[in-house]
Amino acid sequence: MNYKERYSLNKKRGFKDFSDIKAKYSCHYCGACVVVCPTQCLLPATPGHEKIIWHKERCLCCNLCFKVCPGREVDYHQLNKRMFPPGKNGYQHDSEMGSFLTNYIGYSKWEDIRRRGSSGGVITTLLLYLLEKGEIDGAIVVGFKKEVPWLPETKLYKSRQEIIAASQSKYAIFSHLAILRQIQREQGRFALVALPCQINGLKKMEPYRPRLKEKIAYIFGVFCGYNMVYEATEFVRKKFGIQKEDIKELRYRNGLWPGGMTFYLKDGGKKSIDDFHYHYLNAVFLPHRCRYCGDFFAQYADLSFGDCWLPELYTDKPEENTGWSSIIARTPKGDSLILRAIEGKWIVAREVSKEKVKESFPSMLKYKKRGVFVRMTLHPYSPRLVGIRKPKIPLAEYPYHVLYYMVLLIGGSKIFKWVISLFSLSRLRWAITLFKGIMKHPRDARNKVLK
Ligand SMILES: Cc1cc2nc3c(=O)[nH]c(=O)nc-3n(C[C@H](O)[C@H](O)[C@H](O)COP(=O)(O)OP(=O)(O)OC[C@H]3O[C@@H](n4cnc5c(N)ncnc54)[C@H](O)[C@@H]3O)c2cc1C
Ligand code: SF4
Ligand code: SF4
Ligand code: SF4
Repeated sequence: MNYKERYSLNKKRGFKDFSDIKAKYSCHYCGACVVVCPTQCLLPATPGHEKIIWHKERCLCCNLCFKVCPGREVDYHQLNKRMFPPGKNGYQHDSEMGSFLTNYIGYSKWEDIRRRGSSGGVITTLLLYLLEKGEIDGAIVVGFKKEVPWLPETKLYKSRQEIIAASQSKYAIFSHLAILRQIQREQGRFALVALPCQINGLKKMEPYRPRLKEKIAYIFGVFCGYNMVYEATEFVRKKFGIQKEDIKELRYRNGLWPGGMTFYLKDGGKKSIDDFHYHYLNAVFLPHRCRYCGDFFAQYADLSFGDCWLPELYTDKPEENTGWSSIIARTPKGDSLILRAIEGKWIVAREVSKEKVKESFPSMLKYKKRGVFVRMTLHPYSPRLVGIRKPKIPLAEYPYHVLYYMVLLIGGSKIFKWVISLFSLSRLRWAITLFKGIMKHPRDARNKVLK
């Protein structure tokens, strides 16, 4: 029986396959489908090749990729019920933050790890703690390809040095979860660091791959406002006039907190763009699915981590500032880990209210928690976000969301990319600062800290 015959037969039984996702939904390349596909006819997306390759002649039309795909649907109600059953463990629920036990702000006790990390270096420190205590045998993180040091790649690292080297955020999108195909066969238990959308994929996959639940001892989620296709990295590289073969190392949040994207060159030189200006390239290089993403705080992790932009933690002198992390402990094992790491003096952290955590992100919450509902109504094939109640959006806010959506559509167009390719980085910096002035949220903590 060939694919066409299989498809029409299974269609009658209500089955779908990858063609149905491709045609109507937004893929963010998480790789969940790659892991569950029984015939391995799906190949993962890599940085610069953001596309899942589908060999349909091997497809069984089994429905599995369709079922696990978070680009198609995320059922918050089901996931909440499964992970945070009401009346159990004292979970608190917040419509923006998801379910949680305790919130903290803090940083790594180890000054070098804190400085090297994206925020307070807490993720890396907790991974090292788990490794030292024998609670995990390795960590699934994002490092760089050994022979191609400018290409981010998902790795299973089992040594302290490797985990430290893989700290810091990599602003690129690719099939991070695809490594779980290998993990199913590995001996031991591991911690996984992942983006909210990838955790959505993992959670949807768990009922079909129960071994993964045993293998992944901890899920660390990172807050995620936006991501970028790898073209953004290439854009900056080309603007600097750097040849690939001259790159020794690439870091996305290098130097004084909050850091900036830096290319270290083989001849000893380096070229950097600060975090603030780099992040405005989001509007141009945003993956399609990120426009319709409703999970900012990594709601289904054991622990979620993000930046902390509370102005009272920083001074006006950038050289005096070191990063802090916002930490949300969601599950009992996540909360216990934080408490043990504080007690053992691995991290310094203090408990804060949920309002304090949110204080860092007023404009992000506006964009991601309210704006997403406006953007979804403007696009017919946005993913279905089931079981989250639409918040009250003040009427006066609608024009802002529509305008922002237009900015994203125009920013992502080929013609706009061509236009900005004509400008130098310094001209772009000037334009971005002007744009920030027009679109800025008056209470944006990030803008206060980076003024
Ligand atoms: C694409 C992206 C967007 C983000 N957006 C926001 C935001 O809008 N607001 C906010 O507050 N925080 C955001 N974060 C999270 C923030 O940048 C830090 O990762 C977080 O605060 C943890 O800091 P840390 O110093 O504790 O982590 P570190 O100790 O530096 O460790 C970071 C860990 O994350 C892993 N990692 C890096 N890149 C990725 C990736 N792409 N996918 C999966 N794992 C990865 C690293 O390998 C490392 O293990 C984002 C992170 C990413 C990767
Ligand atoms: S969103 Fe994830 S599961 Fe869905 S098609 Fe894309 S890679 Fe596959
Ligand atoms: S075999 Fe199943 S999981 Fe693989 S692509 Fe076809 S329908 Fe999807
Ligand atoms: S914005 Fe959402 S879809 Fe995009 S990378 Fe972040 S978590 Fe994934």
